[in-house]
Amino acid sequence: MDDVKGLVFNIQRYSIDDGPGIRSTVFLKGCPLSCPWCSNPESQSGVPELFHRDINCVQCGRCVAACPQQAISFKEEKGIRIDREKCLVCGQCVSECTRNAVHFMGEEKTVSEILKVVLRDRVYYESSDGGITVSGGEALAQPEFTAALLKALREEGIHTCLDTTGYATRDVLDMILPYVSLVYFDIKHMDSETHKRATGVPNEPILDNFRYIAGLGIPITVRVPFIPGFNDDDENIEKTAEFVSAVLPGNEVGLLPYHRYGMGKYDELDREYVMGDMDAPDAGSTERAKAIFEKHGLKCIVKG
Ligand code: SF4
Ligand code: SF4
Repeated sequence: MDDVKGLVFNIQRYSIDDGPGIRSTVFLKGCPLSCPWCSNPESQSGVPELFHRDINCVQCGRCVAACPQQAISFKEEKGIRIDREKCLVCGQCVSECTRNAVHFMGEEKTVSEILKVVLRDRVYYESSDGGITVSGGEALAQPEFTAALLKALREEGIHTCLDTTGYATRDVLDMILPYVSLVYFDIKHMDSETHKRATGVPNEPILDNFRYIAGLGIPITVRVPFIPGFNDDDENIEKTAEFVSAVLPGNEVGLLPYHRYGMGKYDELDREYVMGDMDAPDAGSTERAKAIFEKHGLKCIVKG
């Protein structure tokens, strides 16, 4: 079981935003949703992919010369561009770059390898009522690995949090939930068509899974990404609040206002940032949404 491998793109230590206390967050690569506002676009594809960190690039040309596909060109100012249509993901450019300006995002790791890293901080988890969060991408998209990792952590007496879109089959949930102490559960939109247009998947399985997890008595913290023009209208927030309060009266809802912090990563993956220059929601609309959740008896916390 310890040798089950997962595709991981980051382990963030000393995290305070992904669950209670001080935590380490293990980010798995691959997600069945494709939200255009995603601030971790490197998490979306389920395979390792090239990522160029242009701030490190000195345009020495070693990667350009090494590429058998002539897939790399220079940007005008700084950094490189990779033609993903031509790229064979051979890794020659990664080997050639001495500046760590181009590298693979996503690495296979065993459960034992992850444990070795995250258990170093056990003292912080214990002193802060923290633990480990498994996030993504979508952790439920790598069910064997996620189950094995969470089980091993629980056997170590560590508090576990699953941070999820909720989009998975019931079999997958049943495999994983026995090892989960807390679920961070995203609810994006109450209208399935609108949900599907933006994320690529309908919301019915997500809402069903929410009811299912709540019915098992596993604590849930709801998270609502608050995206102008997508889900920030009063009607949708009302319906979201009605849904959550009917299933889990008085529960906590984290409202996550849209931001553009991940925008630069799209360029480094040679992808277009389709949200463009859309601004973060203004304080007034965020406060109005908070008031709606509170009107339904929910505890709403706006995240910075
Ligand atoms: S990515 Fe690396 S090898 Fe390529 S031009 Fe930049 S510094 Fe040189
Ligand atoms: S990984 Fe792609 S861009 Fe890099 S050298 Fe190979 S073909 Fe060229």
